[in-house]
Amino acid sequence: MNTLPSVHLFNTLSRKVEPVLPITPGIVTLYTCGPTVYNYAHIGNLRTFLFQDLLKRTFQVAGYEVKHCMNITDVDDKIIRDSQKDLPAEAPSEARHAAMRALTDKYTKAFFDDLEAVKIHQDSFTYLPRATDYIPQMIDLIQRLAAKGLAYPREGSVYYRIAGLPNYGCLAHLDREGMRVGASVDADEYERDAIADFVLWKAAKPGEPSWESPWGPGHPGWHIECSAMGMELLGERMDIHSGGVDLIFPHHENEIAQSEGCLDHPWVNLWVHGEFLLVEGEKMSKSLGNFYTLRDLQKKGFDPLTFRFAIQSNHYRRLYNFSFAGLRAAENALKRIRIFRKRMEKDAAPAGQGTWKEAIDPSKRLEAAQEAFWDALLDDLNAPEALAAIFTLISDVNAQDDRIALTREERDAVLTFLDMTNQIFAGWPKEEATIDQEVEALIEQRRAAKAAKNWPEADRVRDELKAMGIVLEDRKDGTVGWRKG
Ligand SMILES: [Zn+2]
Repeated sequence: MNTLPSVHLFNTLSRKVEPVLPITPGIVTLYTCGPTVYNYAHIGNLRTFLFQDLLKRTFQVAGYEVKHCMNITDVDDKIIRDSQKDLPAEAPSEARHAAMRALTDKYTKAFFDDLEAVKIHQDSFTYLPRATDYIPQMIDLIQRLAAKGLAYPREGSVYYRIAGLPNYGCLAHLDREGMRVGASVDADEYERDAIADFVLWKAAKPGEPSWESPWGPGHPGWHIECSAMGMELLGERMDIHSGGVDLIFPHHENEIAQSEGCLDHPWVNLWVHGEFLLVEGEKMSKSLGNFYTLRDLQKKGFDPLTFRFAIQSNHYRRLYNFSFAGLRAAENALKRIRIFRKRMEKDAAPAGQGTWKEAIDPSKRLEAAQEAFWDALLDDLNAPEALAAIFTLISDVNAQDDRIALTREERDAVLTFLDMTNQIFAGWPKEEATIDQEVEALIEQRRAAKAAKNWPEADRVRDELKAMGIVLEDRKDGTVGWRKG
C-alpha cells in the first residue's frame, strides 16, 4: 500500500496544501454534499460535481479505493414550498408526502441524467442516501446533542447552542472575539455576520408534510442531514469532506459543530472546496438572463463532454469565467486530442517514413509527459497543467510522426497513456464500432467465406448474426440487406 502516490490537497481547515493520509491505508472516504432536488442543477452546481469526480477518478487511477457518499437532500424549506403550493388546505398527510416525493423523484432523475451526460456515473458512488430515509438517525443525533447541553428545544423546534462549542468558527475562520452572536435563526442559509444558534429540527407549520419527533411533528434542518448521513455511512472519522465554497459557512461549519459536538473528536481530516463559476464575468442569476443548465447548453448545440472539458481545464480553486467563446475553445482542444488518438490508432502511413536526422525519442517524450501529468494532478489537482502535458506530447509526437513514423509499439504506448488520462478526464475514449459497422463487417466476412466456398465459416458467421438478432435478406443481385429482428 505504501507504494501508492501521495495526493496533496488544499485543506480549508488548515489553509495549507497537505498530503491525504487515508485513515485506512489505500481506502479514501469521501463525503460530498449532494443536490437539493427541487429544480434542475445549473452549470455552477455541475462545476462542483465535476471537480469532485476529477478528485475521485484521480485517487482511483492512482490506485486507491474510494468510498464516496453523496446525499440527496429531498426535504427542506424550498422543497416543501414548491411541492405543496397546489394542495388544498385540507389535504391529508399522505397527499402532502406524496406530492413532495413526486417533485423530488422528478428532479433526482433529472440530476442523474445530467451527471451521466457529463460522465459522472451513478455507479461510481458507494452511497447515495436520500435524507428522508435517515430521519431516525437525525432525531437520534439531535437527542445526543441535547443530552450534552448543545441543543435546546423552543416551541417545537430545536436549536444548536453555538456558545457551547469553543471551536465553532474554525472552518470559516470566524473571529469569535469580535462576533456579535444573535439569539437563534430558523433559516438554513444566512450570512457570516448573522451568526446565531441554528435550527436542527423545525416545527411543522400548518399544511406542511412532517415527521413525528420527541418535540412534536416537524422536519429536519438542512445541516443536520449531512452530519447524520455522513456519520451513519462513512463512520465517525472520514478522510475528505467536500463541496462548493458557498457551503463553508454556515453549512459545513454547522456540520462540524453537530458531528464533533456529538463525537468529541475531529470528524473530517480534510475539507476541500471548489470555487464558483461566473458567466461572462458576472454572477449567474435568473434576473440577468445568464442562468444556464446543462440542457440549455445542449439546446445551443454543445456536447456535454465539451462542458466537462471546459470545466476541467481550469483549476478547481480558481474562479471560472464561463463563456460560449471558452466553450468553443474547449471544443477545439478536445478535438485535437481525439484526432491525435485516431492518428495513433492507425498504422503509420508508409509515406511518412523519412530520414530526418534530429529525431526525438518518442518513448522519452512519453515518459516526460507521464511524469508531468502525475506531478500536476497529485499537487492539489492541477488539471490545467496535467492537460498541458498531454498537449506538449501531441505537438512533439505529431512533429516526429510527420518525419519518421512511430512504430506500432510506440503508437500503442502513446495509446496506453491516452487511455489512462481518459479514465480521469473522460473526453477521448476509444470509440466503439457502432452496431451497424459491426453487422456490415460480419456480412462482408460471410460474403468472403462464401466466395472461398468455406461453408462452415459462412454458417458460423450467419449464426453469430442470428444471435445478435439480425435478420438477413438475400436479394436477387447477390447483395444482402439486413434488419434487426
Ligand atoms: Zn452537506
